[in-house]
Amino acid sequence: MSSFFKETPFLDAGVDDASERNAFSANRLVRNSEHLSAHDLAMAWDNPNARLHLYNKGEPVLKYEGNRAHALFTLQEASDLGYDAESGIYLGVRNNGPVLAATIVPVEELPSGYTSLDIRSMVVSGAVLAEEVATLGHGWSLLSWHANNQFCTNCGQRSEMIQAGYRRKCPSCEREHFPRLDPVSIMLVIDGDRCLMGRQPHFQPGMYSCLAGFIEPGETLEGAVRREVLEEAGIQVSAVRYHSTQPWPFPHTLMIGCFAQAASTDITMDVTELEDCRWFSRDEVGQMLTREQELKTPPPMAIAHQLIQTFYDVSG
Ligand SMILES: [Zn+2]
Repeated sequence: MSSFFKETPFLDAGVDDASERNAFSANRLVRNSEHLSAHDLAMAWDNPNARLHLYNKGEPVLKYEGNRAHALFTLQEASDLGYDAESGIYLGVRNNGPVLAATIVPVEELPSGYTSLDIRSMVVSGAVLAEEVATLGHGWSLLSWHANNQFCTNCGQRSEMIQAGYRRKCPSCEREHFPRLDPVSIMLVIDGDRCLMGRQPHFQPGMYSCLAGFIEPGETLEGAVRREVLEEAGIQVSAVRYHSTQPWPFPHTLMIGCFAQAASTDITMDVTELEDCRWFSRDEVGQMLTREQELKTPPPMAIAHQLIQTFYDVSG
């Protein structure tokens, strides 16, 4: 077993929760979702301490004050922006007030003082507090699910929101529908002091990243890691170590980050998935992490960056 795996049985020892480094992870809302009802949602709309996340055509609405952007609005502000109360859902409680999420009636131009920005650009800008980034993602995952699941998959009738937005239920056949969450395994394969990265044709020029793929029914996390790495790179994997997770609201994925130990080294690339795939030395990786070279890693908002950074830090 390579030193990386032998010497670091608990990766990032000393860090209570490595996921905290990942974007979208700082969600502090108290949800109590099991026990919510339409009554809680109605009470929240009447609560003067309620705050809302709002979305215009899929983009969070923001209000800048200097370099800082706010993403939580009062009911009066939501009203001024033309929110769609029908879309409103309850996310949880923050400080002493409920946090809701709703779409606004789509507009090309927002009222003066407001802007909207796609979620990726918003995170990269660094203008929104990490806690609000996380709850904005939370809200968008649920709103997208409602928008795309209006009809019962059992009988075809229109379903209704229940539990203040955490479930849907069909009034005809009474089937309950749960919010969708898609688990994806994302892994950095390591062979001694080098790691395996690939690039897909749609990546930014020069960017290489971890391999990744959806976990399929009947698979363990470890099984999915081994299958993906074999399918995409032809590399056999022995040990798999969990590192951290990242809610990824595009629209409702959970990225599960792992390190995987290579048990073979000859690459056979899946050309339908990847444009290139190769081994990178630790020194090369260090340069790529600065993102100032021709070859680069994904930005820090991505869990892939955090996996690569951890490999660089731990294997030095
Ligand atoms: Zn039904």
